[in-house]
Amino acid sequence: MGTEIFRPQKIFVERSIRDLPFTRKLLDRWPSVPVQIVSQPQQAVDALRGEPDPIAAGKRSLLIARQRGPFIKRCPGTKNYICCGYRIINAATNCDLDCTYCILQGYLTIPLLTVYANLDDLMAQLDSFLSSGQDEFYRLGTGELTDSLSLDPSFGHARLLVPYFADKSNAILELKTKTTNVEDLMDLEHAGRTVVSWSLNAEPVVRKEEHGAPPVKERLQAARRCYRAGYRIGFHFDPLIDYPGWEEDYRRVVEAIFQHVDPQAIAWISLGALRYPPQLEEIIRRRHPQSEIVLGELFPGKDGKPRYFRPIRTRMFRKLNTWIKEHDPDVFVYLCMESDLVWRQALGWSPGNMARLSRLLDERVKP
Ligand code: SF4
Repeated sequence: MGTEIFRPQKIFVERSIRDLPFTRKLLDRWPSVPVQIVSQPQQAVDALRGEPDPIAAGKRSLLIARQRGPFIKRCPGTKNYICCGYRIINAATNCDLDCTYCILQGYLTIPLLTVYANLDDLMAQLDSFLSSGQDEFYRLGTGELTDSLSLDPSFGHARLLVPYFADKSNAILELKTKTTNVEDLMDLEHAGRTVVSWSLNAEPVVRKEEHGAPPVKERLQAARRCYRAGYRIGFHFDPLIDYPGWEEDYRRVVEAIFQHVDPQAIAWISLGALRYPPQLEEIIRRRHPQSEIVLGELFPGKDGKPRYFRPIRTRMFRKLNTWIKEHDPDVFVYLCMESDLVWRQALGWSPGNMARLSRLLDERVKP
């Protein structure tokens, strides 16, 4: 199946960046797609108002804009849970895939696929950020507000960022994806400073809930290509979904990981159970009436987000961790946004706080 290459139905271009090279490159790529010049992103948002499903329409429309805020931000994490101290490179937002559980459906103020054309500002901000924190170590990724590689054949961010990080001693880049778009990574100079990671799930969940994303087997074949090209590899089981028969299906995915990638190349595997902002439930029911994820027994956590009851999450994490460690006890497994208690009950230890988890992850990838 592979990953379908994106082609927008309409392009909006912010007037102030219409002559930048990146904008020209994208417009040349799709010469027959209608283009509308706008003075403000809000005009593009207004154009979607009459659409029956503005979120779906936003995924088919591309806004090429100027990033006026910082390109680099802290991952917001979630209140009262241990997060991993990640930094987000905000070069694009939204995604052409359509996962039922995607929080971006209710999160983005501009619900269009948006890419920022002022790449010189991005690189200048990266230079200044990394040189001002010479004594620190940073893990940065492009895959928090979009999929890092889904749109990369068009945007080319990996071609820009992977060689940039190759000679940085105080940072690592993580490209997080569900896709198989790794062709462009094959000839890049990466010097081991990029982790390419895949979001994985049980195959029935992929089929029902991850619309437009390729099957797990294809993701793992792409991971194998990156591993053979010398990249460090990461995996994220997130969101784990509880359903009858989940054990068998998730166990199969764990087995498949180790058939495709040498454990030595695995930087980390994270586990996160289904959770979402309360307002997303209505959007999921409306946009994805076939989805079964909101039918589970979910209760508001300490951050107000519905989650599975603690014993269910603990049991899922414990099992996944056990299956992974059966293959290689040295693979680093961590939990995404969980409490100290769940860490201890599920994995038998806890980093205790964000600073320690962050340090442990850094150690996995420091030169
Ligand atoms: S791949 Fe990620 S960003 Fe894209 S729709 Fe799915 S959850 Fe959202």
